[in-house]
Amino acid sequence: MHFLDQAKIYLKSGAGGPGAVSFRREAYVEFGGPDGGNGGKGGDIVFEAVQGLNTLIDFRYAQHFKAKRGNHGQGKNRTGAGASDLVIEVPVGTQVLSEDKEEVLADFTEIGQRVTFLEGGRGGRGNASYKSATNRAPRQHQPGEPGEEMWVWLRLKLLADVGLVGLPNAGKSTFINAVSNARAKVGDYAFTTLVPKLGVVQHKGREFVLADIPGLISGAAEGAGIGDRFLGHIERCRVLIHLIDIAGDDPAAAMRTVEEELAAYGGGLEGKPRLVALNKMDLADEELGEGFADELKAEGADQVFPVSGASGAGIEALLDAVLAYLPSKTTSETNAAEVEDEDEDGAEWSPI
Ligand code: GDP
Ligand code: MG
Repeated sequence: MHFLDQAKIYLKSGAGGPGAVSFRREAYVEFGGPDGGNGGKGGDIVFEAVQGLNTLIDFRYAQHFKAKRGNHGQGKNRTGAGASDLVIEVPVGTQVLSEDKEEVLADFTEIGQRVTFLEGGRGGRGNASYKSATNRAPRQHQPGEPGEEMWVWLRLKLLADVGLVGLPNAGKSTFINAVSNARAKVGDYAFTTLVPKLGVVQHKGREFVLADIPGLISGAAEGAGIGDRFLGHIERCRVLIHLIDIAGDDPAAAMRTVEEELAAYGGGLEGKPRLVALNKMDLADEELGEGFADELKAEGADQVFPVSGASGAGIEALLDAVLAYLPSKTTSETNAAEVEDEDEDGAEWSPI
């Protein structure tokens, strides 16, 4: 069983800038001395673990990372400017592996951890630095040192940020498929190494991992060494989405059954915040929905989200509510408004 996300990327640090060959020239001064400055240092390749990234999905679009080269040295003994470092942001939990995947080269376990992975090349010496008593007018200079390059694999164990619970047939699988495909300009994200009950959701510039928790419970009960993995998912979950089938016999009883199961399972699941959603609302009218919503509130729901995993209606509002539970990533949040997508059929439901 794998819950792995991985990406292969190419890294190259910047070459150093070449040293300059230059001589001071002044009117009426017969011999100007050498004054070619050294080249600047090339940019480093740096990895940094940041908050708010949960997957390696971005690396599907950007696979080549090249830091800039240092600037040329210049006359008047001016050293070329160093190139800025290229900082690659990764989620906590990312490991950087050698191309053959045999070796772990870096392991990111906490937010803010930074590793200079490839050093930029040093700048070359300018001719001024070769001046000596015996050589007053050197023309020697060095090219900058080349940068370093390598292919590496990034590997991340995906852990669910959001758990999806509900009775069999509540529509969990349909829901996961709807949110992890429909939102995304990334509909074809390859889940080949993931079990199908785990989905990466992208919503308004944010992303999170959604997992069908009851599926994991039954898997865990069967043993097979996934126990730790499963507990990892639960610990990491910040909120549970509880899907309730409006076409079921008694939605309130369905909700109670699942709550009892969660409480019996323990492990911290029962203490997670809940977002309660009445699913398959495409089959019901508003009035029926409101009646059921009142019953669910009597069972302890703060708010009820009418949704349809089949048509996608109502999902927007539910995902908005999920985002409030996730740790924020300041940079991508600023794009949120632009990323917001239009609802295709105009049907959008608000929480009851
Ligand atoms: P799971 O057992 O919770 O994973 O539920 P599934 O996603 O497998 O769905 C169970 C059944 O309900 C399937 O026949 C789905 O086609 C149907 N279903 C799921 N979501 C919706 C929905 O939003 N509207 C309608 N009308 N049917 C749905
Ligand atoms: Mg299912």
